[in-house]
Amino acid sequence: MRSKVVSFDLNTGKAPIADASPLKRPLSGLKEIFYDQEAVKSILAKQDPMVYEFYDLHMPEREGDLAFGTSMVYPGKVGDEYYMTKGHFHTLIDTAEVYYCLKGYGMMMMESPEGEIEYQEMRPGQAVYVPGRYAHRSINLSDTETLITFFVFRADAGHNYGTIEEKGFRKLVVASNNGYALIDNPHWVG
Ligand code: MN
Repeated sequence: MRSKVVSFDLNTGKAPIADASPLKRPLSGLKEIFYDQEAVKSILAKQDPMVYEFYDLHMPEREGDLAFGTSMVYPGKVGDEYYMTKGHFHTLIDTAEVYYCLKGYGMMMMESPEGEIEYQEMRPGQAVYVPGRYAHRSINLSDTETLITFFVFRADAGHNYGTIEEKGFRKLVVASNNGYALIDNPHWVG
C-alpha cells in the first residue's frame, strides 16, 4: 500500500509513535532565538521548559510527494516574548506551505529575504497559506493553551534554519497592554 492513514489527536496534536517521532525543542536548545538573554538565563537557572515539539511523518523527500505533520507550541514567554518556533526558509525557497490551526491562538510570522513582512493570526478552523520565498515561524499568543497546527508542504522542499539562526527575524512579537505588539528585533543582522 502506498496510501496511508495517520491519526492525530485534536487535543494534543500527537500521533502514535509508530507513525511519527516527536522532535522536542526545550528552551536550552533555543536560547538564541529570544531577544531577552537575561530572561533566558534566569529561566534556565531553574528549569528547562519545553517550548515546542512536532511530529514529522518521515515522508520520502521526493518531488511530487507531500510531507505533513503537527506542531505544538506551548504557552509561555521569555521575558515579554511569546514562545515560538525557530523558523526557517525552505531550501527550495519558492515552495509554499499550508498550516491549519487545530487548537489555541497564535500567529504565523513570515518574511522574505527582501524584507517583506507578513503575519497572520491563527485560530482553530483557520488555514494559513505561507507563500514560497517566505521564512515562517509559529508563535503562541495564548497564555494558557497549546497552539496546535497541522502542516503540509512539498516533501523535497528542505529546511534552511541557518539563515534565520544567523540573522533572526526582522520583527518580534511581545506581550503588550492591548494583547501583543510587533517590535523591531534589536539583534537583527542586516
Ligand atoms: Mn516550512
